[in-house]
Amino acid sequence: MPEPPKQPPDLRGTVVAGLWPGAPVPRPSAPFSPVAALSLAALPTRNKAAGLPGPCRRPIAAAVSVSAPLAVVLLSGGLDSTTVAAIARERGFRILALTIDYNQRHRIELDAAARVAAVYAERHIVLPLDLSGFGGSALTDAIDVPKSGVAPGIPVTYVPARNTIFLSVALGWAEAAGARDLFIGVNALDYSGYPDCRPEFVQAFETMANLATKAGVEGDRFAVNTPLAAMTKADIVREGARLGVDFGLTWSCYDPVDGRPCGSCDSCRLRAKGFAEAGVPDPAL
Ligand SMILES: [Zn+2]
Repeated sequence: MPEPPKQPPDLRGTVVAGLWPGAPVPRPSAPFSPVAALSLAALPTRNKAAGLPGPCRRPIAAAVSVSAPLAVVLLSGGLDSTTVAAIARERGFRILALTIDYNQRHRIELDAAARVAAVYAERHIVLPLDLSGFGGSALTDAIDVPKSGVAPGIPVTYVPARNTIFLSVALGWAEAAGARDLFIGVNALDYSGYPDCRPEFVQAFETMANLATKAGVEGDRFAVNTPLAAMTKADIVREGARLGVDFGLTWSCYDPVDGRPCGSCDSCRLRAKGFAEAGVPDPAL
């Protein structure tokens, strides 16, 4: 009598256990896929080959294929960069989140970045890059943060060349990791007038990135994605809401008082304007 055909073993719950010791293991609801299991098991090796310093420390968030392309997302922990992370995920990218610890005065945002990365990112690097030695900004130096409203001109909260520095660092990680897309939450409508938030700057940086890198000159081109560029703050809130962003994870204030948003710096004002115009309550208040 012939034996009945063998069924593949039910390995649900063990598929991703090999990613890193002690990792929480989400039980997949889909039937076991040997292909997916092989891809997941190979991820630490791929990370190593890509120059990443080891296996992922966080579970891969649901609904992103392990064969999806990587993108480096500059993540400050604010409303804008968090919404950008959600957009990058919706576009099908696996996210490498990069937070620069530039010794900013409002260090609460680093905690916010960690909370957001836990939701969206496959890996999160917080890179210490102390810009306070340069000074020259109310965010890194002993200069008062303006609280009398958004004024014309470039305010003292401008950090010299910050987005050029941040994107350069992101470009380095992207090239090493095999990511060709960078995401940054710059916005040139409801913003503080920073020159390195304008589309001209972003286009120039993208050109530079493709001149400056091995990947770029070999034709494997980089793209700098700025999905918020033409959005108002209210648009950003609506987009985040559409994507299910938990705004309570985010932090925007430049100059918190007793661990709470001050309510009167430019960043607090722009955030409040965005939530008000979108008709969405701000859970961070
Ligand atoms: Zn504030």
